[in-house]
Amino acid sequence: MSWEKNMRTVDPYVAGEQPKQAGVIKLNTNECPYPPSPMVRKAAEDFDCEKLRLYPDMNAEKLVNALAGYCHVKPEQIFVGVGSDDVLAMAFMTFFNGDKPILFPDITYSFYDVWADVFRIPFRTCPLDEDFCIRKEDYLVPNGGIVIPNPNAPTGVLEATAMFEEILQANPDSVVIIDEAYIDFGGESMLPLIEKYDNLMVVQTFSKSRAMAGIRIGFAIANEKLIRYLKDVKFSFNSYTMNMPSIEMGTAAVLDDAYFKEIVGKIVATREWTKEQLRELGFTFADSKSNFIFATHKSVPARDIFLALKENNIYVRYWNKPRIDNYLRITIGTDEQMQKLITFLKTYLKEH
Ligand code: PMP
Repeated sequence: MSWEKNMRTVDPYVAGEQPKQAGVIKLNTNECPYPPSPMVRKAAEDFDCEKLRLYPDMNAEKLVNALAGYCHVKPEQIFVGVGSDDVLAMAFMTFFNGDKPILFPDITYSFYDVWADVFRIPFRTCPLDEDFCIRKEDYLVPNGGIVIPNPNAPTGVLEATAMFEEILQANPDSVVIIDEAYIDFGGESMLPLIEKYDNLMVVQTFSKSRAMAGIRIGFAIANEKLIRYLKDVKFSFNSYTMNMPSIEMGTAAVLDDAYFKEIVGKIVATREWTKEQLRELGFTFADSKSNFIFATHKSVPARDIFLALKENNIYVRYWNKPRIDNYLRITIGTDEQMQKLITFLKTYLKEH
């Protein structure tokens, strides 16, 4: 078709499967196995649908103020979006506008190269070492920006703040985005460093540790200037992305810190138990500080295990990609779900 030559073509991001059938043990998209805070449910019940006539507050002030209080920063230092995917996409569009390639790891969140493609941002991937760790030197070269998840996904590896500080210091001309989608499961946030580094932006999400993947809330924290640039682009794109119920329910989640800590604690305990079980079954993995484990088996190919699990209604994530095609990413579920996984694996591995 002649009009096709004007298309903006891109290979889209492929998300993990959302199976429709009942009874699935779903350990494939790093969701939280527990429900959101009871205060979130109450906020939903109390929401007055009559209000939906009106546009929502485009600054999502109530939610931004709650987050500012929680993070001990000014409201002007916070940007909220429809999941951290929205926040990251806006950040790519805003900050990565130069000619030099942006840098991110070769094994990482597979949305980064898609955003780079769709926004026509040149990029270069930096190979992780054989232990799936970042090689700091790779980021001490001229670049148009840097984005790294910490802990990294899908490896679960947490890197030290000191290493990121070196990267930040060496790159005063680039914005450095640290994607902290999984930081609450055992890492130390870079958040306190936003005052020290004006080129640092930290991104977090309600999808994992706050058990609200379905509501779609993510946020960025940085100095006021970076946030202002981000908002200028966002309001030039779509002003009213945060809907009213999200603002109310998100605010309720932030205010229930005790519940947040309780479910994170449970997931961390289950993760540590699962690590021991997997080790006994002959799996190896880099130590995970996230809500998933990225594991490979000493003799049985990951793809075979993945398919066998799926046939038995246990969904984990598998990528047929270089360097990681013998690994499974297993999200941490409830104790009961993980026990079922381990029980299945014990039998399956004995037979293979
Ligand atoms: N960053 C990383 C590293 C992720 O794994 C995910 C989850 N797919 C996201 C960002 C996006 O999460 P969300 O849009 O649900 O906040």
